[in-house]
Amino acid sequence: MDRRYFLSVGGVLLATASPLALADEKKSNGVRPTPTPTPAPTPSPGTGKPRVIVIGGGMAGATVAKYLRLWGNGIAVTLIERESSYVSNIMSSLVLSGQRTMSSLTYNYSKLTSAYGVTVIKSDIQEIDTTGLRVKLADGSYLSADRIVVAPGIDFEDVPGLGTSTRMPHAWKAGPQTTLLASQLAALQPNQNVILTIPLSPYRCPPGPYERACLIGDWLKAKKPGSKLTVLDANAVIQAEADNFTKAFAMHGITYVPYAEIVSVDPASSVMKVTIRDTTPGGAETITDHYASVVNLIPRQKAGKLIADAGLNNSADGRFANVNPLSYESTAKPKIHVIGDAAATGQPKAGHIANQEAKVCADAIVRAFTGPAPGLAPDPAPVTNSACYSTITMTQASWLTAVYQYDSILKKMAVAPVPGIAASVGWSTGNFSQMNTWFNALMADSFA
Ligand SMILES: Cc1cc2nc3c(=O)[nH]c(=O)nc-3n(C[C@H](O)[C@H](O)[C@H](O)COP(=O)(O)OP(=O)(O)OC[C@H]3O[C@@H](n4cnc5c(N)ncnc54)[C@H](O)[C@@H]3O)c2cc1C
Repeated sequence: MDRRYFLSVGGVLLATASPLALADEKKSNGVRPTPTPTPAPTPSPGTGKPRVIVIGGGMAGATVAKYLRLWGNGIAVTLIERESSYVSNIMSSLVLSGQRTMSSLTYNYSKLTSAYGVTVIKSDIQEIDTTGLRVKLADGSYLSADRIVVAPGIDFEDVPGLGTSTRMPHAWKAGPQTTLLASQLAALQPNQNVILTIPLSPYRCPPGPYERACLIGDWLKAKKPGSKLTVLDANAVIQAEADNFTKAFAMHGITYVPYAEIVSVDPASSVMKVTIRDTTPGGAETITDHYASVVNLIPRQKAGKLIADAGLNNSADGRFANVNPLSYESTAKPKIHVIGDAAATGQPKAGHIANQEAKVCADAIVRAFTGPAPGLAPDPAPVTNSACYSTITMTQASWLTAVYQYDSILKKMAVAPVPGIAASVGWSTGNFSQMNTWFNALMADSFA
């Protein structure tokens, strides 16, 4: 596959129409379905082939491992993931409304090994030695490489008053918290209420909390009449698709409170308390208590713990890793690359973007190992795209697409002037079924 063609031409075409048109364009450009893989043989020890370690087998890590093998002319790739399988966050809000099972969102790593020759190790990485280019596995042993790609996703900041209570799940990493929140919602009694909180940006999946709110709001009307949803948003405004979500909130009778910074929570009593400060500029900073029987508390986010431990958290707020968007190499430590939600790139923290970042990163690493030392320079003009669907009701969805390109003056990824960002006007059942097509294509591109 021609990497440059894939990254730029495919990316632009993909975002010129609805997300499903994106998928069709991909097919017509030979990008989807993934071509029958012919991975280069895995190098044996001592052959001198470059070695890359990838930490984290999520949307970013799985994709970079696969494409390093597809494009890498024999690069030895070891993917280290703490779980046996991956549960997709994308579509996981549909578990809350009973429309998806966790198993339908679960992906394993067998194809990465059998079809592409990725070595997969199940281990919880304890430490990254950024100088020695080694990682410490859970059993205390070390593995070294020529490059390390770090893709650990996100962690959450503490919320005052929450302590170790699990009564206010975030369900923002798909897993046990998702099923817990689903069971809490199912157990709601007549007229009991729900709160969903949204943290300050940047957080994982800008439209995600609003689409979850719409889904819960629609589900409450159908299954729990009399129960109401209140959304407490730390941000000044709705962070994506504001027109669609504003109309949908009104349609579902959802109370939306912006500038709602969480001061503390009290999960102990049966009706739980969320205390917020109104941060409206020029306002009186009023403190208000909100009560509900189910609280979906989505805390403020930061890069997965490994990033700070390794001194890679050099974004302005210290929560994410600054990278060179031509290669995703850390600006703090050479030969260490950071992709996905853990990186600060100017692009949204989204699975589709994580997949795109992974391909730009794979391409840059392959170039670095090619040609005379120190190797070829990265593509100077990468283009990435993002598509996502939002559930507005249990059967209807809207869509949003965006294309980003490298700004060589600002040295960062920026929204491309054309075609830029586009969203559907309203929502439809057709979009809802196209959402499944888009999702299946994205997951196949990352894991199969
Ligand atoms: C409800 C919801 C809906 C969403 N919807 C969309 C959507 O419609 N479209 C979209 O594009 N995005 C969506 N997203 C966002 C998307 O899921 C994330 O942006 C994406 O998963 C980020 O990929 P990642 O690889 O950075 O992190 P992850 O996918 O979280 O993967 C990180 C991996 O690293 C592993 N790991 C972490 N630390 C270690 C360690 N020390 N050792 C070994 N392994 C480790 C973890 O186990 C995990 O498997 C949604 C998110 C949520 C929560």
